[in-house]
Amino acid sequence: MEVWNNCLSIIKDNINSQSFKTWFSPIQPIKLSDNVLTIQVPSQFFYEWLEEHYIGLLKKTIKHELGSSGRLEYSIIMESASGSGSPYTVKVPASNKGALNNPSVAMPIDINNGGAKEIPNPFVIPGLKKIKVHSQLNESYSFENFIEGDCNRLARSAGYAAANNPGKTSFNPIFLYSANGLGKTHLAHAIGIEVKNRFPDKTVLYVTTEQFLQQYVEASKNKNQNDFIHFYQMIDVLLIDDIQFLSGKEKTQEIFFHIFNHLHQNNNQLVITSDKAPAEIKGIEPRLLSRFKWGLAADLQVPDFDTRLAILKKRLYKDGIEMPEEVIEYLAFSITTNVRELEGALISLMAQSSLNRKAITIELARQMIDKFIKNTTKEVSIDYIQKVVCDFFSIELDVMNSKTRKREIVQARQLAMYFAKKHTKSSLATIGFHCGNKDHATVLHACRTVTNLIETDKKFRNYAEEIEKNIKI
Ligand code: ADP
Ligand code: MG
Repeated sequence: MEVWNNCLSIIKDNINSQSFKTWFSPIQPIKLSDNVLTIQVPSQFFYEWLEEHYIGLLKKTIKHELGSSGRLEYSIIMESASGSGSPYTVKVPASNKGALNNPSVAMPIDINNGGAKEIPNPFVIPGLKKIKVHSQLNESYSFENFIEGDCNRLARSAGYAAANNPGKTSFNPIFLYSANGLGKTHLAHAIGIEVKNRFPDKTVLYVTTEQFLQQYVEASKNKNQNDFIHFYQMIDVLLIDDIQFLSGKEKTQEIFFHIFNHLHQNNNQLVITSDKAPAEIKGIEPRLLSRFKWGLAADLQVPDFDTRLAILKKRLYKDGIEMPEEVIEYLAFSITTNVRELEGALISLMAQSSLNRKAITIELARQMIDKFIKNTTKEVSIDYIQKVVCDFFSIELDVMNSKTRKREIVQARQLAMYFAKKHTKSSLATIGFHCGNKDHATVLHACRTVTNLIETDKKFRNYAEEIEKNIKI
């Protein structure tokens, strides 16, 4: 006790008080024998952090107190791998990292002692004291302004549910993915705004992955990574956009991993967006990717005509602009794959009209569209696949999606699921949702059944080949 207290007073003089409080106050001296001082640290992450950042200081301090034969040993409280058993401890001598390099059991630290308020905020220019976290939310990206359609129903309702009960639903993290311009950023903001409205005291933060990366670089330069981590670990609802940009950034991934673990363990809500499904992101550590799938991964699909129309109308209404119905329909009809482009077309049409003092007519819209979109590619959607399958078997969509167990219907439904898996980037959950509200296991089963039948049943194989041709037209 006495030796350790002496050590602490040396350490205290050499680092700032926040770091001291964070990293050294929780340490318990356990024993001193044969000139080996054993200290107990609360987690492996703690141990790694000390080793990485304070080992020089610790060594010098030990030497000062115990002479050059003095040694340090850690006793680390480990979380049991399953998360259910009780914690256990392992012993490691100082500076012997190789002895303990199973990263999957690394657990982030727990900040308590009411220190949260003193943590520097990386969003604030140093020197300008401001503790309150600015959420960085864009008010116009609300649920109110987010048009619901089949293309986004699963993601939207999960987001809404999570916003009403942040961190307490099984949708944690919510992982939203889609091609560009389909509403991921909008939905992430909507969740944040909703949480803020319902729980004004919750700390909500929207951050782009690029910002996060920059802040981390900055923090490393200034040697205050631990403050950086602490800042993020005290957020109640973290919305992080375009996570694919973490790819190849190993160090930042590691930091994010610890932040993620801490937030998740403490039932804080995470919302992550990406341009790809977790399984398809390259250059991100598997342990992080697997965590992205812990909650709900939902994709945003290309909106159908009615949804596109509703989006345009909402936008016009919001901006207080009137436009002939046929022109709006024409836009919704012509621009099919990207909501951002759809809105872009609308704005450019208005610009054209005011610039040339021409009335907004369908003719003007046509000219503009001709210039505006040259090569928007057609993307296959689940709805489209369902339609092809229904047409092929001459059945109605609602019959196919009903609960009936009639063999032909079941097979049609399974084919639709199979092709949806094959030709879209949708998750099993999303496909199931669109195909009669089935769960992901049902879709998985369908895919296996179809694969089997294609291999073993000639007639079935012919059907499948025909349908596939129709999908590709
Ligand atoms: P992403 O992040 O997927 O690239 P964004 O969220 O930036 O896409 O969306 C692009 C634009 O389309 C935004 O202006 C957004 O408000 C709008 N948008 C997308 N989906 C919807 C929707 N369902 N309802 C209303 N606006 C939408
Ligand atoms: Mg975005």
